[in-house]
Amino acid sequence: MANETAQKIGPVILLGPPGAGKGTQAKRIAEHYDIPQISTGDLLREHVSRGTELGLKAKAIMDRGELVPDELLFGIVADRLNQADCERGFILDGFPRTAGQAGWLDVFLEREFFEKSEKCTPVVIRMDVDYTQLLLRICDHDGFKLIQRNDDREEVIRPRLEAYEIQTRRVADYYQSKGRLIALNADRPIEEVSAEIFDVIDRHASRQFVSGRAKPE
Ligand code: AMP
Repeated sequence: MANETAQKIGPVILLGPPGAGKGTQAKRIAEHYDIPQISTGDLLREHVSRGTELGLKAKAIMDRGELVPDELLFGIVADRLNQADCERGFILDGFPRTAGQAGWLDVFLEREFFEKSEKCTPVVIRMDVDYTQLLLRICDHDGFKLIQRNDDREEVIRPRLEAYEIQTRRVADYYQSKGRLIALNADRPIEEVSAEIFDVIDRHASRQFVSGRAKPE
């Protein structure tokens, strides 16, 4: 939105299982605030399609629906977040997926990112959905029209959901323990979920920044 291009947002982190609509909401947030949407899945798929060494290593792991190891990921995430278009804010989609990644991100923000961008608390939003409905929806058994990617098959989805259950819950716990987690019900129409997310981000930004500048101490 043109009148909001000057607004400082800071880092926004979206958590939720595959199929919860993270990608859709991340895209809507990116458009609404004119900030980049950083999807680690997309960054990795770009490497796969370019046939880079990293892409070749990541492909087999992604095809199995497993998590790509941190040593392959951190470099590409840091490079992307260090680009100038992230300074006013960015929305992370699909990262962090583990407590280790969340810890790394905090250190990266403190040591590198906030060196050139005003320090603020990242907004962390968890999109909650019913697990059984989710599996049905992703596997396209309940009449939802879906664009399925190659890896969206039940045998791939199930381990992804299990990985989500085991590992991502720890990410939520990590942010919860720091009092930063905002959970919302994502089993609602897309526009309704977006409206609540925008409200959360607006209130967070207005507490952190005044007219696009960091609030004085
Ligand atoms: P996504 O598009 O977010 O569903 O990601 C697709 C695949 O990329 C995942 O199944 C993982 O193999 C890999 N991937 C994406 N983000 C991460 C992450 N933060 N940590 C580890 N692997 C990831």
